[in-house]
Amino acid sequence: MTLINENYLNLQGSYLFAEVARRTAAYKAAHAGQEVISLGIGDVSRPLVPAVVNAMKRACDEMGQAATFRGYGPYEGYDFLRRTIAAHDYVDRGVAIQEDEIFISDGAKSDVANFQELFSSHARVALQDPVYPVYLDTNVMAGRSGAWKGGEFEHIIYLPCTAENHFSPRPPQQHADLVYLCSPNNPTGTALTKAQLQKWVDWANEHRAVILYDSAYEAFIRDKDLPHSIFEIPGAQTCAVEFRSFSKTAGFTGTRCAYCVVPKALKIEDEAGNEYALNELWLRRQSTKFNGVSYIVQRGAEAVFTPQGLEQTRQIIDGYLDNARVILEALHKAGFAAYGGKNAPYVWLKTPQGINSWEFFDLMLEKLQIVGTPGSGFGRAGEGYFRLTAFNTPQLTQQAAQRIAAFTF
Ligand code: PLP
Repeated sequence: MTLINENYLNLQGSYLFAEVARRTAAYKAAHAGQEVISLGIGDVSRPLVPAVVNAMKRACDEMGQAATFRGYGPYEGYDFLRRTIAAHDYVDRGVAIQEDEIFISDGAKSDVANFQELFSSHARVALQDPVYPVYLDTNVMAGRSGAWKGGEFEHIIYLPCTAENHFSPRPPQQHADLVYLCSPNNPTGTALTKAQLQKWVDWANEHRAVILYDSAYEAFIRDKDLPHSIFEIPGAQTCAVEFRSFSKTAGFTGTRCAYCVVPKALKIEDEAGNEYALNELWLRRQSTKFNGVSYIVQRGAEAVFTPQGLEQTRQIIDGYLDNARVILEALHKAGFAAYGGKNAPYVWLKTPQGINSWEFFDLMLEKLQIVGTPGSGFGRAGEGYFRLTAFNTPQLTQQAAQRIAAFTF
């Protein structure tokens, strides 16, 4: 008999999007002719920009010629892309990150899911609640969660993010080895300030903890005072890893390209106190388990940083942010308490009159024919909240906003 990895039995059913789809389909079947608008999608709707498409076509032609054909690429990504990212996203912004601290991958999901492998199975994990569910589930799979008791895992340190603490949790009182921070945050759409991040960096250096900083939505930051990178914060290079993605920045959700930054100064220890550089460990892990991102895709990602690529992708993100503004204004007009949406593609609203997230889902669907995502699906502290996304078309977003603005409860 082959035995199962019992950690997998600890995973709590990820029924969120399946249940959203089920209820939406049931509603549509019973109300043919009504137009249901989805503000639940977490995927982009605008196509790749011309600068990217043209670069990928050129790379495709190279792959079709014997003289320029390429087979396996470097595990950590081609130098041309790592150099461009280091220069554009870091050095030009005054942050001393070098190209050999950048690792190209097929997605921030894989990176944030895989990175925990480098740490002890006894490492204590802290994470924001609510947050992108991948951080928790991958630690459950790795056996770090302990048992599921009373609605939470006994060994996970939950950091509630609610309107009361302005969605910015304080470092925990108890010891944690790994902390996941997502900013701008999915689902709350709020971003951490430099002062808030500095507290985390100081805490992590003092406690010798590692911060796994997911900034997949960094390109949506418009507020000049907000940090785009954790490495803008003094001291971060000895305590943080940063994850970024071309998915939402440049419409690469189906094309797949991302990167993570692992500073060479960041060390962890074995029980005897010997130090190991995470940068070397991650390279060792990637070269064993990953064979790199395709040349064509990396050339496409490089083109995001050309003047045309930057302008074209900025326009698209501005469009999504405009959708977010329209949604936010409609919610405020209807009297909702609503957050986020200014530096992120997500708007997070407090459900009215204390009704729970799923009841509000049904209400939105039945009264307004709008689909969103119940906040409780992102963690216990998301109960009583609801997520709307800015990724639909401007036309449908406007229509949805008109319905919301007229909402009475
Ligand atoms: N991180 C966060 C916070 C996300 O919301 C998402 C996708 O929704 C990802 C990472 C995944 O990004 P990628 O498409 O690069 O795998």
